[in-house]
Amino acid sequence: MLPGPTLIFACPECGQKVANESLMSGNTFGARYFSDGKRIAPMLPEFPDLIRCSSCDCFYFLHEQEPIDELYPFEEQSDVTLEEIDQAKAPGLDGLVLALQQEVARKKENEIAIRLDLWRAFNDRTRNGKSLFLNENDKHLYHNNCEVLIALIEPKEDHFKLTLAELYRNLSRFEACLKLINSLENPEWDSLKKQFITACNQGKTTVFELLKT
Ligand SMILES: [Zn+2]
Repeated sequence: MLPGPTLIFACPECGQKVANESLMSGNTFGARYFSDGKRIAPMLPEFPDLIRCSSCDCFYFLHEQEPIDELYPFEEQSDVTLEEIDQAKAPGLDGLVLALQQEVARKKENEIAIRLDLWRAFNDRTRNGKSLFLNENDKHLYHNNCEVLIALIEPKEDHFKLTLAELYRNLSRFEACLKLINSLENPEWDSLKKQFITACNQGKTTVFELLKT
């Protein structure tokens, strides 16, 4: 794994600086993959995109901003020091709910990104051995988010079909899940298809870790 420069961004509302790491190259050695598309790869970390400003609380997307500075590892060529700048961090489940309430997405792809993050943030509870829902409101929120994602995502490519199939399975709509799973023709999906079919046959709705073959 080869780290790239640390990118410094400024909040578009108040100018508060935030630092985000970047990567020159990585690999999927030791990676774990899950049925909701989440990948946990120690040698290929992902960095946050939606940020909640620590100073003025506004949400913004780093991919819509130009970095104001870049700090390279082992070089001291900048007048800013990283100790003074907050590290960018993902908003977390409650922050993502707030971002949706405040309609910060503005574009369809941003809304899909926030909702996928929210979906996987809920599923992280299952991944960590905890209950998926703490109360009825959680359940409503989760189901509603899955429904909206199903309406937003177009099954143009295989990986979109897989995401949709998983959303249907999470909603106990096993027939719709299997229909999409069975529409995948490329043999590269064969092992994964079997695992989805088994989960559906068992009436299993929660996220699961994909077995490597
Ligand atoms: Zn701000």
